[in-house]
Amino acid sequence: EVKRRGRGACMLFEPGMMEQSLEQARLANELRQALERSQFVLHYQPVVQMATGQVSGVEALVRWQSPARGLVPPGLFIPIAETSDLILALGDWVLRTATRDIAQRLAQLPANFELHVNVSARQLIQSDFSATLQQALHDSGLPPQHLTLELTESVLIEQDGQTEERLREIRAQGVKIAIDDFGTGYSSLAYLGLLPFDCLKIDRSFVRNLCSSPQDAAIVSAVLHMAEGFDVAVVAEGVETAAQAQRLRQMGCSHAQGYWFGRPVPLEQVDWSTRALPGSAAENL
Ligand code: C2E
Ligand code: MG
Ligand code: MG
Ligand code: MG
Repeated sequence: EVKRRGRGACMLFEPGMMEQSLEQARLANELRQALERSQFVLHYQPVVQMATGQVSGVEALVRWQSPARGLVPPGLFIPIAETSDLILALGDWVLRTATRDIAQRLAQLPANFELHVNVSARQLIQSDFSATLQQALHDSGLPPQHLTLELTESVLIEQDGQTEERLREIRAQGVKIAIDDFGTGYSSLAYLGLLPFDCLKIDRSFVRNLCSSPQDAAIVSAVLHMAEGFDVAVVAEGVETAAQAQRLRQMGCSHAQGYWFGRPVPLEQVDWSTRALPGSAAENL
């Protein structure tokens, strides 16, 4: 952690650092206990198919229901879990819980339904990751074609040639790969062309100003064309307004996700109804 700060190594002597690392150590301990005490919960956020407004999938997003701290968002504990093997145990719990949750209600869901699960670099590089995945699918009874694993762009470039092999193993099992937060990493387009993947998720930072920034609109448009050329699905993240949804649909974006369609909520609270999209036939009636 210190090394990665590079030139900012003088940070070591800044006041507050000591408390910060103590707090981190405390958190790491609490997280270990939290797993033993079953304090993690999954929320699910709908992914909507733009052509139909149908909820075509959900993304599983982990939270920590801490008695002392309340509901803690993953941004506050995943990075800490990732500094140790804790992320392996937590990631395994997420994979098992999400596949079981969705397998149980698969009969009520559309035939093309996709469960999206986030996976950390550290999980992916485990030599037994494929076996772990296989086990989760087997135990839950979820057919592999209903599962997509989300990996961030940085995960994919930080790794060596092993990553490509691992992705091929996963796809050989019938599970799909999505590149999460696309556009925020530093992967070269040439490298991207070598990676096997099935879906690009456009980071919400490009969606935020889609309607006001011609530059951001150009980036989104370019990614949509690239996805079409690669013959992969696209999910636009962070859609918060009707205007953004309408614009994305006009641009030919196949899928979207965001507060406008639904926030992440416990599974039993997910609104499965088909969304009326702005500017669609349903709305013009
Ligand atoms: P992500 O995978 O990119 O997930 C999308 C994040 O954007 C979620 O934050 C979601 O609540 C938020 N979001 C969705 N729609 C909107 C919107 O319209 N506006 C805004 N402002 N935000 C929106 P969340 O749940 O706090 O998760 C943050 C990140 O934590 C995730 O980003 C993912 O990288 C990581 N994460 C979550 N669950 C897991 C997990 O089980 N394993 C791992 N390794 N990482 C996870
Ligand atoms: Mg994700
Ligand atoms: Mg994302
Ligand atoms: Mg994101």
